[in-house]
Amino acid sequence: AKYVYDFAEGSKELSDLLGGKGGNLAEMVRLGLPVPPGFTITTDACRAYLRTGAEPYGLADEVGLHLERLERQVGRRLGDSADPLLVSVRSGAKYSMPGMMETILDIGLTDDTVAGLAAQTGGNERFAWDSYRRLIQMFGKTVCGVPGEAFERVLDEAKARAGTSDDLGLDAGALKAIVARYRTVFAEHTGHDFPQDPREQLGLAIRAVFSSWNAERAVLYRRQEHIPADLGTAVNVVAMVFGNLGADSGTGVAFTRDPATGAPGVYGDYLADAQGEDVVAGIRNTVPLQELERLDRRSYDELLTIMAKLEAHYRDLCDIEFTIERGKLWMLQTRVGKRTAAAAFVIAAQLVDEGVIDLDEALTRVTGAQLAQLMFPAFDLSGRPERVASGVAAAPGAAVGVAVFDARRAAATAKSGTAVILVRRETNPDDLPGMIAAQGILTSRGGKTSHAAVVARGMGKTCVCGADSLDVDLDARQFTVDGRVVREGDVISLDGTTGRVYAGAVPVQPSPVVRYFEGALSPGADPLVRAVDRLLTHADKQRRLAVRANADTGEDAARARRFGAQGIGLCRTEHMFLGERRALVERLILARTAAERDAALDELLPLQRSDFVELFRAMAGLPVTVRLIDPPLHEFLPPLEDLAVKVAVAEERGQDPGHDKDLLDAVRRMHEENPMLGLRGVRLGLVIPGLFAMQVRAIAEAAAQVPDARPEIMVPLVGAVQELEAVRGEALGLLRELGVDARVGTMIEVPRAALTAGEIAGAADFFSFGTNDLTQMGWGFSRDDVEGAFFTRYLELGIFGVSPFESIDRDGVGRLVRIAVEEGRAARPDLHIGVCGEHGGDPESVHFFHEVGLDYVSCSPFRVPIARLEAGRAAV
Ligand code: ADP
Ligand code: MG
Ligand code: MG
Repeated sequence: AKYVYDFAEGSKELSDLLGGKGGNLAEMVRLGLPVPPGFTITTDACRAYLRTGAEPYGLADEVGLHLERLERQVGRRLGDSADPLLVSVRSGAKYSMPGMMETILDIGLTDDTVAGLAAQTGGNERFAWDSYRRLIQMFGKTVCGVPGEAFERVLDEAKARAGTSDDLGLDAGALKAIVARYRTVFAEHTGHDFPQDPREQLGLAIRAVFSSWNAERAVLYRRQEHIPADLGTAVNVVAMVFGNLGADSGTGVAFTRDPATGAPGVYGDYLADAQGEDVVAGIRNTVPLQELERLDRRSYDELLTIMAKLEAHYRDLCDIEFTIERGKLWMLQTRVGKRTAAAAFVIAAQLVDEGVIDLDEALTRVTGAQLAQLMFPAFDLSGRPERVASGVAAAPGAAVGVAVFDARRAAATAKSGTAVILVRRETNPDDLPGMIAAQGILTSRGGKTSHAAVVARGMGKTCVCGADSLDVDLDARQFTVDGRVVREGDVISLDGTTGRVYAGAVPVQPSPVVRYFEGALSPGADPLVRAVDRLLTHADKQRRLAVRANADTGEDAARARRFGAQGIGLCRTEHMFLGERRALVERLILARTAAERDAALDELLPLQRSDFVELFRAMAGLPVTVRLIDPPLHEFLPPLEDLAVKVAVAEERGQDPGHDKDLLDAVRRMHEENPMLGLRGVRLGLVIPGLFAMQVRAIAEAAAQVPDARPEIMVPLVGAVQELEAVRGEALGLLRELGVDARVGTMIEVPRAALTAGEIAGAADFFSFGTNDLTQMGWGFSRDDVEGAFFTRYLELGIFGVSPFESIDRDGVGRLVRIAVEEGRAARPDLHIGVCGEHGGDPESVHFFHEVGLDYVSCSPFRVPIARLEAGRAAV
């Protein structure tokens, strides 16, 4: 096997083998850009090393050969005391994992070569000793596990002694003394001396980079970003170039466009007289890249030319790392750069304008998740609010409220009308009531898959977790950050999109993208709105899936329509039984005779009808799927315990509990251990005569009143064709009698329905997958209970990458969907098929529904633009 590639042998297409960094370094060499000579050890070698604990056979020889070639190219040899070659050993996996793995600079410095390095640089003793102390520090920390503080302490003491706060204030003598102290620290912690053989340094560094693939933070990062755990990292060995040789040297990072806003024009930071790692470490303040024009015009011009070349080559925003060594520019890294959601849209549209990519490709450059981010309200930071902490941006949004430290108090405070932020070290299922009541959740522990994060995302709540600088003191009901105390009742603001926490109430701005959807901003309002408009319009043109909304009221329906919904895929009628209508439902349930029941239904009829009229008006000309009542009826009755107490108290006092007694009997009669699997959906329609008929009548009469109404009647929870036939027969009879035309179809949400879809299609004009119930019954997970109880553990174990309630489980529940589509269409080719579960607005799931050939997805009004975009992306 070939384990080592010279930069001249590789390309970006080989990133599986060479990692992103190695592939892109090779690509830059191909483009003729100034890259220091080097070679890449493949991810294959890393995987072999991690598997066996030893370097694969032949690797050492191959590295030796490539090192010789590198030495010839540079004209210096590793370990040559007169004129030593130094190299960096850099990690670089297929997917960028910023800062998660190790890089070691200045390999090759020893007591023997340090003087040679000084001679090489015109007698720059200070530089040589500074490089040596950097090597011992970095090598000690990353290769040998010496705690970083041990070195920091020595450095700080030396600075104090020299009366400086800046590394640059240390002269060669001071640095030489630091090296001596560092070597003692090194030996104390490792039990051996700092290696004086450069080949040994190189070999150990390579192994350390291999091993850093499994560093704790790398493992965690991969889990969060869904990067496979078995890829391994490549290792790049690169001749060192020095940005710390004086004022005519320096280092910087740059982007070919602004990665925050997408605005055209290069953007970056530069630090004179420094090594690359100083920029990231924030040791000194950088200057804007534009300053370089003044400092070193020639390098600046060359850099701009190179950046333009890279953009043209990658046809996208690139970020780069560069170093200038005494006026000579070197490129150390490039890649297609990460960017904010807003920049992703703006840049994609710009590249279309510039003729670099077409609109289809532009759609592949943005995601529904990014669009979702752009729809959240955001903080207006123009008042420069005080940032108190930062954590993991776990669930987006902008939440403002008073800090409260326990769930019960949070729920009570929220109930009294005060907005609350629940602050915990971490959350557990007991905190649920508080989480539900809070505007946002802040924890000091845990990452994106922690309980707080998972639950918050499920509820659409803002969440910042793992803000580890917070010292949360539950007993004192306060948290401390860097000596600043925030007490219970103090107002804080959480930005779930950036993970930042601010003191006080930061004003919230509605998203411009939402204002555009609402019609309050013109499509040309600003570059972002223009880009969103352009890409969504193209998505609409390309997509095969129609997008409908789940909406129960005229108001929701009208909003959905403004957001681009092409109809209603799910109107839940049970919401129409709440409020003052509850009393009518009680009467229906308590009815002892047919006459009493009909009287209750007669009163419900006009109320339902007027709801439908409103809905049909808002959606005139577009289809509206109305689902007949689904939930167990006892949900409309008071809780058993309350009633039992009330009746007992009355009886105790010798009073007649009257109506309450009847209610209690009914509640007892209807009590179910497993109501989700009980008397609901079509079962209700079959058991309570007249209930579905009343609803069908209300729909038909409403449709007759609204020109252009296009009602569709949907029967929930069907598992057998016989159930559907019974309801459908009655419905069709009524529709005929009233002279209204409407499709009658069914939900497919019980596994048996999916498996007998061929038969069921005989009695259905359409199918709509209820994937929430289908997931619940397919997995046997109670959807109301799982999230807190054990999903966190399941996610940790990797049983699934995301909750199957969030993204459809393609292999299991998805298989049921496929079977139902195939067999349903085989029986009835014109069968119209959609989905109305939460999955209808989930990007991953939308792609699945496109693949299996559904006609539409239906989702909440706010998800409609996301589904439109993803349906377009699925089609290009
Ligand atoms: P990361 O992936 O964490 O950015 P890198 O491998 O890119 O790690 O290296 C860390 C820093 O060291 C970067 O600033 C990089 O530019 C700098 N660096 C790496 N190799 C060299 C080299 N051969 N010469 C000079 N600087 C280097
Ligand atoms: Mg880098
Ligand atoms: Mg359902």
